[in-house]
Amino acid sequence: MSSDQNNNRGRVALITGSTSGIGKAIALQLNKDGFTVVLHSRTSVAEGQRFASQIPNAIYIQADLSDQVQVKRLILDVLSHHGRLDVLVNNAGINAMIPHNDLKQASAEVWRELYEVNVIAPWTLIAEAESALRQSSTQACPSCIVNISSHAGVRPKGASVPYAATKAALNHVTTLLALNLSPDIRVNAIAPGLVDTPMTEKWVDAHRLWKDKSPMRRGAKPSEIAYIASMLVASSYITGEIILADGGLNLT
Ligand code: NAD
Repeated sequence: MSSDQNNNRGRVALITGSTSGIGKAIALQLNKDGFTVVLHSRTSVAEGQRFASQIPNAIYIQADLSDQVQVKRLILDVLSHHGRLDVLVNNAGINAMIPHNDLKQASAEVWRELYEVNVIAPWTLIAEAESALRQSSTQACPSCIVNISSHAGVRPKGASVPYAATKAALNHVTTLLALNLSPDIRVNAIAPGLVDTPMTEKWVDAHRLWKDKSPMRRGAKPSEIAYIASMLVASSYITGEIILADGGLNLT
C-alpha cells in the first residue's frame, strides 16, 4: 500500500463521519497504513464504539458538527486522549436533494444547514487542530489535511445548488489553506463523483448515469476513495490539489 506502516506507527488520524460510507473506508485504510485512528459520527454511538473495538488503539468520539461547541470539543477530546494529531480528514457532510431550477425550495435554512456542516465545521476543526498539526509535523513527514468535497464542487452538477456551492467553497478553502499553512501542513481535497454508500443507495438516476456514460461504467467503491486518501496522506509533497475521482464522467 501507499503508506509505510512503520513510519506511521504512533501517528494519529481523525476521520470525521467515519462510522459509514467513505469515512469508514478511509479509517480502515489509514489503520492499515499504521495510523492510530479516531472515529467520529453525529449519532451512531453504538456502531462507532463497536467499530472502534475492532481496530487496535482506535477510539470513537461522538460530536454534532452543526454545533460549534461540539466541533471544538472534538479536537480537545482527541488531544486529551492522544496528545497529538497528524492527519485530519474532513469527511462528514450532508446533502439536500433539490432540483437546480427550484430556487424557493433551496431556502435560506437549507443553505445555512449545509454551510454549517460542510464548510464551517471543517474550517473550525482545522483552526482548532492547527497548532497540534504543526507540532507533530516534520520536514520528512508534514502533517496533512484531506477534505472530502465532491465533483459537484468542480462542475455545475450535484444533488442541489446549495450542496454544490458548499463543496466548491470547501475546494477553495483547500487551496487557500494549502498556501497559508505550508510547509508544516499539506492541504488537499478529493472530489468524488458517485460513490456506493448509504447516502446514494436510492439515487437510481445517478447510478444509471454512471453506468451508461462514465468511462469506468460505474460509481466508485468507498475503498477506492480511501485509496486516494491514503496516497495523499503518504505524500510528503503534494499540497493544494483537488483530486477529481468521478470515473471520468467529466470527460463526457
Ligand atoms: P454517509 O452518509 O455514509 O456518511 C456521512 C457521515 O457524515 C456520517 O458518518 C455522519 O455521521 C456524518 N455527519 C453528517 N452530518 C453530521 C453532523 N451534523 N455532525 C457530525 N457528523 C455528521 O455519506 P458518504 O457518502 O460516505 O459521504 C461522505 C462524504 O463524501 C460527504 O462529505 C459527502 O458529501 C461526500 N461525497 C459523497 C459522495 C457519494 O456519492 N457518496 C459523492 C461526493 C462526495
